[in-house]
Amino acid sequence: MAGISFEGRVAIVTGAGAGLGRSHALGLAERGAKVVVNDLGVSTAGEAAAPAAEAVVEEIRAAGGEAMAHGADVSDAAQVADMMAQAMNAWGRVDIVVNNAGILRDKTFAKMDLSDFRKVIEVHLMGATTVTHAAWPILRDQKYGRVVMTSSASGIYGNFGQSNYGAAKMGVVGLMNVLALEGARDNIRVNTLAPTAATRMTEDLLPPEALEVLEPEAITPGLLYLVSEDAPTRTILGAGAGVFAQTRIYETPGVLLQGEDNTPEAVAAAFERIHDAQGQRELPDAFAQTRKFARRAAEAKGLS
Ligand code: NAD
Repeated sequence: MAGISFEGRVAIVTGAGAGLGRSHALGLAERGAKVVVNDLGVSTAGEAAAPAAEAVVEEIRAAGGEAMAHGADVSDAAQVADMMAQAMNAWGRVDIVVNNAGILRDKTFAKMDLSDFRKVIEVHLMGATTVTHAAWPILRDQKYGRVVMTSSASGIYGNFGQSNYGAAKMGVVGLMNVLALEGARDNIRVNTLAPTAATRMTEDLLPPEALEVLEPEAITPGLLYLVSEDAPTRTILGAGAGVFAQTRIYETPGVLLQGEDNTPEAVAAAFERIHDAQGQRELPDAFAQTRKFARRAAEAKGLS
């Protein structure tokens, strides 16, 4: 297989001053991309801390690569527009957008303030939306774009105490599903990374023996594939400790209950068959489900 190169490509990596974003930015630069290292320089809770992007830019330059720092808050459209303009002024294109910036404000739902819920949605879901929205016209004009959302097992599978984060992280999966469809005709591919790694975000959450094998650098090869020329689209790639796995959403064939048979009791009685995984399929879009259901009902009524 030919080597993956990003020569001539321009990448924006958000939250790249630390952790996974830093590793992704270094990986992209090492293979030739010019990289905008974005970071607001905040604490894990999203509070003011120290600027972080410049040090990563220095690392990239020291290794012979090209990079610029930008301190935009990903959820601020004006700051993001400035970042996009600076990338275009310097390098004339943007090919790759890695939405990685993130914070945590964990609490059980019972104790969660709505302001903490909103803030986490604002950074993860609105941040990914704002940065991708600013890049979208550029990617469409170029007829080339590779976009990655960063999700989490906390959203895909659930994690106690992370209702805000889980909702945001599943939100970006919905965003990917639609953007993959809308971007396809302009050669824009949109994927999702669901990482698990030892960073400051997880250092207090995971046992030391797990942290030891979960280095961020083990995830970056997966990210680099998802933003490469031959990337897939609409993939959720789980990654951690060098293991890569795909998460998929399936729908079971289902059970048809019509007329007098369509009662809550009948749904309860049929639940085991509704739930039965045999013959389950991934659907290409929302109307595939509508067509499947309508066709089945129409056939049963002798209408088709
Ligand atoms: P990290 O805290 O090391 O890095 C996150 C970076 O994002 C920080 O440098 C921070 O300053 C920056 N940031 C925060 N808010 C920002 C904003 N509004 N604008 C710009 N930059 C901002 O965390 P990490 O573990 O490297 O996480 C990276 C991404 O991976 C996050 O989206 C996180 O939710 C996700 N993730 C991480 C894990 C894990 O195990 N570490 C698991 C699942 C998902």
